[in-house]
Amino acid sequence: MSRSVLVTGGNRGIGLATARALAEQGDKVAVTYRTGEPPEGLFGVRCDVTDPESVRRAVDEARIQHGPIQVLVSNAGITRDELLVGMEDDDFRAVIETNLMSAVTVAREVVPDMLKARWGRVVLMSSMSAMAGAPGQTNYAASKAGLIGFGRSLAREVGRRNITVNIVSPGLIETDMVKDVTDARRQHVLGQTSLFRAGTPDEVAAAVRFLASEEASYVTAAILPVTGGLGVGH
Ligand code: NDP
Repeated sequence: MSRSVLVTGGNRGIGLATARALAEQGDKVAVTYRTGEPPEGLFGVRCDVTDPESVRRAVDEARIQHGPIQVLVSNAGITRDELLVGMEDDDFRAVIETNLMSAVTVAREVVPDMLKARWGRVVLMSSMSAMAGAPGQTNYAASKAGLIGFGRSLAREVGRRNITVNIVSPGLIETDMVKDVTDARRQHVLGQTSLFRAGTPDEVAAAVRFLASEEASYVTAAILPVTGGLGVGH
């Protein structure tokens, strides 16, 4: 297996674990990074996913290096938590732009490659917050719920060409993103899981790898929770 893969936000956290998992099985993986250096051993393309021109350039660089994109993992994301009554429009918009609009921009760039090839895999990184909601995350939950509607509609548009679009919905995963979560909040969330622990980036990567595989050929428009049992029933 040696597909041309693009992972956004692939320089750390869940994106990096996913990129490494796919590279390990032989895929040609390009990761976008916005800050710092590209991760060792992976082909990095600098990209701000909120800037369509930057996305275009990054996708082109990945294509030149590895060929037309066959697998997209749209993973880049941010939080700007605040209760709604205190939330600035800028913080709401930044989260929507980074988490939702970026998936639209990147997918629009790479899906034509997949349509031409009559094969493709798109995996969108949502969150359990999309279904369950979370205090302080009206912006984040809205952006992640938007990805579900976006992905399921795209799945209907491209299914005839053998392209699947699926959504991964992680719970609490140990990355930089959750390092400021208070102990009380952490205990509250973990207390609602069945496994009573947070997940690891590798555990999310394994789910992405499955959805991106040939074996997942009849799985599309699905939401795969990787939550340790948090939010069962959603
Ligand atoms: P991290 O904060 O560790 O990583 C976020 C990644 O997104 C980084 O690679 C970052 O790049 C990138 N990124 C953010 N903004 C931009 C931008 N404008 N342009 C390009 N890249 C950008 O978070 P996680 O690994 O935890 O999160 C990955 C995804 O998983 C996110 O979509 C997140 O919402 C989702 N998720 C995470 C959960 C968790 O508990 N950790 C739970 C549910 C969902 P850079 O390093 O350059 O800033």
